[in-house]
Amino acid sequence: MAKDILHMTYENSLTFAQDLDRDDPLRHFRNKFHIPQLNDKDVIYFTGNSLGLQPKNTRVYIEEELEGWATLGVDGHFHSQKRPWFYYHKFSKEALAKIVGAKPSEVVSMNNLTVNLHLMMVSFYRPTSSRFKIMIEAGAFPSDQYAVESQIKFHGYNYEDALIEISPREGEYHLRTEDILSKIEENKDSLALVLFGGVQYYTGQLFDIGSITAAGHWAGAIVGFDLAHAAGNVPLNLHNDQVDFAAWCSYKYLNSGPGGVSGIFVHEKHGDAELPRFAGWWGHNESERFKMKKGFIPMSGADGWQLSNVNILSSAAHLAALEIYDEAGMEALRQKSIRLTGFMEYLLNGFNLGDDVLKIITPTDPAARGCQLSLLVSKNGKAIFEHLTRSGVVADWREPDVIRVAPVPLYNTFEDVYNFCEILKKVIF
Ligand SMILES: *Cc1c(COP(=O)(O)O)cnc(C)c1O
Repeated sequence: MAKDILHMTYENSLTFAQDLDRDDPLRHFRNKFHIPQLNDKDVIYFTGNSLGLQPKNTRVYIEEELEGWATLGVDGHFHSQKRPWFYYHKFSKEALAKIVGAKPSEVVSMNNLTVNLHLMMVSFYRPTSSRFKIMIEAGAFPSDQYAVESQIKFHGYNYEDALIEISPREGEYHLRTEDILSKIEENKDSLALVLFGGVQYYTGQLFDIGSITAAGHWAGAIVGFDLAHAAGNVPLNLHNDQVDFAAWCSYKYLNSGPGGVSGIFVHEKHGDAELPRFAGWWGHNESERFKMKKGFIPMSGADGWQLSNVNILSSAAHLAALEIYDEAGMEALRQKSIRLTGFMEYLLNGFNLGDDVLKIITPTDPAARGCQLSLLVSKNGKAIFEHLTRSGVVADWREPDVIRVAPVPLYNTFEDVYNFCEILKKVIF
């Protein structure tokens, strides 16, 4: 990462923001998206971390498949004009591999995120009487907590004994890497699995995936990541970092539509291993799939974890969105993202408010966060949030007192950031 991006100097003015937009090499990407409106004006959409906006091309991709279905019926499986449905899961591989830093054979899109977390744990959480613990970050996304809890119980272990949650130090909001690593070391004799977020959904902290993975492996554990808030937000190197497995959803930063298809990563070192898994016909040897024979023979790599035939309409939306990522490139997106979020942080710090009024709980180090800033507003937080909403800012509120704002480099502008801070300033002062 070039130094000048991390040490950029900002100015607090609308013309400065507009100059940055004018010089932004990615500025034309905004045009590829539908921007929701309020009173005939574009809203300031800062919830790409929850549901990314719809690419204009999504409709085209979905209509192509509807057309294939209408005209070909079942023959679309092999003869659909552009993208035969039988091979559909293959068409997202190259783009996904670049986004998460993997080989195409290590990734596949399928199912939904929580389903995939379970499927991954079926293969990678193999507790024994001495090694049965799972370590997660305290306050992990509820669905992940429920998945982990039910997996532990499914294997007949006591939830309280088997779950290790790591919290920030007293008075701190995010985890120190050194504390994560020492917690892993402390539990080296009983730890079966480390399952962490890549970017923490509440605080926006980006964890040190490489170091956590290395420490987990040193301790004899398997290490997996939930990348719901990391995929498409920050550059990832899952393959080189030796991560065992990962899963993510596509409807947040990856703009693939509500409930959109999820994705998994399985490191190639496990791709052909004889791991226990819940199998289905789409994970079975492709050349034999329609022979309808007994005896499951998994496909090599991540493909072997598929269960069902592909959800084509959802996957069409996914392809439309991935095409945009491919064109923009993660590195360019990250460079803009660092500036966009840095600009917001600069403007918010310029308010000079006490921590009891407004505190950014996301790490200040750009290398330890993605695009999201989490603002702790202890007084009148909900009222402030509602005012933002009425003023055309789409942000989100997390109980008890946090407003999350995610300026997304694909479609947000520096002017969005400036205008948001002006609106916030008016309501707070
Ligand atoms: C968004 C999110 C989910 C959502 O799970 P679904 O199965 O897609 O509904 C799960 N975990 C994390 C960390 C998330 O951010």
